Amino acid sequence: MSENNIILTGDRPTGPLHLGHYVGSLKTRVRLQNTGEYEPFVMIADLQALTDNAENPEKIRQNILEVTLDYLAAGLDPSKTTIFVQSHIPALTELPMYYSNLVTMSRLERNPTIKQEIKLRNFERSIPVGFMTYPISQAADITAFRAKYVPVGEDQLPMLEQAREIVSSFNRIYKCDILVEPEAILPDSSSCNRLVGTDGSAKMSKSLGNCIYLRDDEKTIKQKVMSMYTDPTHINVSDPGHTEGNPVFSYLEAFATDELFAEYGGDYKSLDEMKEHYERGGLGDMKCKKLLNNVMQETLAPIRARREEYAKDKGALLEMLKKGTEHAAEVSNETLSLVRKAIGIDYFNDADFIERFVK
Ligand code: ATP
Ligand code: MG
Repeated sequence: MSENNIILTGDRPTGPLHLGHYVGSLKTRVRLQNTGEYEPFVMIADLQALTDNAENPEKIRQNILEVTLDYLAAGLDPSKTTIFVQSHIPALTELPMYYSNLVTMSRLERNPTIKQEIKLRNFERSIPVGFMTYPISQAADITAFRAKYVPVGEDQLPMLEQAREIVSSFNRIYKCDILVEPEAILPDSSSCNRLVGTDGSAKMSKSLGNCIYLRDDEKTIKQKVMSMYTDPTHINVSDPGHTEGNPVFSYLEAFATDELFAEYGGDYKSLDEMKEHYERGGLGDMKCKKLLNNVMQETLAPIRARREEYAKDKGALLEMLKKGTEHAAEVSNETLSLVRKAIGIDYFNDADFIERFVK
C-alpha cells in the first residue's frame, strides 16, 4: 500500500471523558487531525463497553452523546475526522470471528492489560467470554480501517502488540498483505502516558472513580483539586516532600504550559524550581493546589464552553454520528470483502471456486 496515514482510536461510552483520556489520546488526535496529513477515524466503542456492562445497556445509551460532546469540545472536527459508533459496523463483528481462530486462550490470558482489568472488576473465574476476547475485537477495530497509527495511553500497548500478532498471522496464513500492522502514538511525557488518579492510584479511570471530567464545572474542579491526594509524608509545610507519584505534580507536569506557569506560578520561574522547593521542604500543599486549580480552570473552561454550545443541538449530533457511521461502514466493508477473499470463503463471487467446484 502507498502512503498510509490512517488513524484509528476510540473510547468506551461508559462515562464522560476525563483528563486521562484528554492527555493520553484525545489531544494527540486533535493535533494530528489538524495537520491535515492524516485520515482519522474515532470510534465510540459501545460493543466493547457491553463486554463488562451487558446487564446495564442503559449506562451505554446515556453516554453515547456524552462522549460525542466531549470529542467535539476537545476539538475533534467531524469535517476532518470520521466519528462513528462501533455496533453499527458489520465488519467489526465479523472480523473477530475470523481472528479468534488465530489466537490461543493462553495468549489472551497472558495479556497484562486484561489481567489487570479482570482483577479490577473482581471477575475471578466468572469472566464474560466477550470481555476475555475484547483484544481480538480491538484488533478488528484497527485493522478494519487498515489503520497505521493508534494514538493511545500506554495501558493500550499490550492491545497493539496483540493486534500486530493477529495481522502477521493472518497475512502469513492467508498469503496476503491486506492487513496493516498498527503502531501506537504515545504522548511524549511520562505523566501523560498514564495519568494518575486524583486518589494517587496508578491510573485515572472511570472504573476507579478517581477522575476529573472534561465536563466538570468550576466548583467541582476546585473541590476535586483541593481534596486531592498528595504526599502523605509531607505533614508540616517545612517537611521535605515527594513530587514523584504525587498527583498534584503529575497534573502540573501534564497541564501547566509555559504560558500558564508564567501567569500563575508566582515566584517560581519553572515547575522544576517549584518541585525542588517542595522536595527541600517549606512549600505547602495548599499553595501547589491553588496553582493547579488555576491551571485546570484555564484548561477546561474553553472545552466546557464548546461543549455547552454543541449540547444545544443534540439532533445535529446524532445526524453527524449517523453520517460518520455510514462512512466507516463503507470503508470497513472493503477490508471485509478482501479478508473473505483471502480466506477463500467468498464462494458466490470467486471465479476460481466456481471454475473448480461448480462448472
Ligand atoms: P474504563 O474504566 O471504562 O476502562 P478508561 O477510563 O480506562 O475507562 P478507556 O475508554 O478504556 O478509558 O480508554 C480510552 C483511551 O484513553 C485509551 O486510549 C487509553 O489509553 C486512554 N486513557 C484512559 N485513561 C488514561 C489515563 N489515565 N492516562 C492516559 N491515557 C488514558
Ligand atoms: Mg479502560
